[in-house]
Amino acid sequence: TTADLAGQTSAGARLLAAARAVIPGGVNSATRLVGPPHALTAASGAYVTDADGRRYLDYHAAFGAILLGHAAPEVDEAVRAAVGGLDLVGWGVTEPEVELARLVTETIPSAEQMISTMSGSEATAQAVRLSRAVTGRPLIVKFQGGFHGWHDAVARNVISAPDRAYGSDPLSGGILPEALGSTLIAEFNDLDSVRALYEAHPDRIAAVIMEPIPHNVGALVPSREFVEGLRALTTERGSLLIFDEVITGFRHALGGYQQICGVLPDLTTFGKAMGNGYPIAGLAGPRRLMEHFSSAGGDVLLAGTFNGNPVSSAAAIATIEYLRGHPDFYERTHALGDRMRAGLDAACAELGIAGTAAGFGGVFALYFAESPIRGYRDLMRNDDAAYVAFHRRMTERGFLMLPLTLKRNHISAAHTAEDVDRTLEAARDVLRTIRDD
Ligand code: PMP
Repeated sequence: TTADLAGQTSAGARLLAAARAVIPGGVNSATRLVGPPHALTAASGAYVTDADGRRYLDYHAAFGAILLGHAAPEVDEAVRAAVGGLDLVGWGVTEPEVELARLVTETIPSAEQMISTMSGSEATAQAVRLSRAVTGRPLIVKFQGGFHGWHDAVARNVISAPDRAYGSDPLSGGILPEALGSTLIAEFNDLDSVRALYEAHPDRIAAVIMEPIPHNVGALVPSREFVEGLRALTTERGSLLIFDEVITGFRHALGGYQQICGVLPDLTTFGKAMGNGYPIAGLAGPRRLMEHFSSAGGDVLLAGTFNGNPVSSAAAIATIEYLRGHPDFYERTHALGDRMRAGLDAACAELGIAGTAAGFGGVFALYFAESPIRGYRDLMRNDDAAYVAFHRRMTERGFLMLPLTLKRNHISAAHTAEDVDRTLEAARDVLRTIRDD
């Protein structure tokens, strides 16, 4: 409680107690806090420092917004250069937003045009509305386990308890039943579950929205038949296919997961890593769809005071230019991810723990369940209590990971093989004590 925290001597606990007086719960996004460290005060490269001076190797990476490491010099310099010139004018066009759109459309295979937003949620909200306007249809399909932001059309059915999975499992109060009824839930990697929704709702589905790799439940990697089948099915049924690449975009490949799998969506959303920590996101697609926005004379409202602002645009331009100039970034982070996964699997096997390291590229997750894990149904076998214990003990040892069971962790340009090996050594110790408990 606040009173308990205020009595503590730790600087982090005191700051959190002060926060709780003026910010509900003390944090500005509900999943930011599950225990110590209560407050972080500095971040550089692969490390963050808490209010009490403890350093943590950071795999949390601001939920994946950090890709090049904290305070990447290339990005910070671009932001510094942007400040003091043109701040925000709200009239006409500015050079940085054009440069960013040019870079993104050159980089993302399915993108001919893009709009800039400030957050991934805004980008997916625009994608959903655009697909309804273009098709004249009301319904959206999302997958159990996919997260696409906090707005009404998508804020449901992410990490659901078994009795709520696939049913109506809103993440929030205040969502109208009509909104909940307008989003249908399918099973990832199961094309038949999507086909069944088309059979039940012919000519009423505007779009299927998916994380190409659902990293909001760790890492379910799609089978080739599944993505190719979805592409064919949505086209045949006159719906749009939306890839929500807010996590995968720029992180797994410069052109996102679509570049890796070779299947092109109609619309793509991205955010997080594209600005290496600065607020920016976007929606891209072909001109024939994007010109439905009111800025081009269409009927889909495009508005946003901060959209395309010069400072966020500068951060994103610098991030993308860094990635273009360092193609070895992907080789390196993928190799470190492979090293982490192999090490975690080996530790579990050696210690007789039912664990499975999952992931893709520099993203890794540890499930406390036997493989194979292909879809959400398999994730229901996860031993959540084991993960919670693992997470707490890794934090105590100075490794910051996502606090939620079934979430992923991120390797950035600033992480080294030595960091990974040190993590594996600690993980092995922690797993041994979990087994011995
Ligand atoms: N889509 C995905 C795949 C995400 O992971 C997130 C954020 N976790 C969002 C959308 C929403 O982005 P934001 O938090 O920037 O609104």
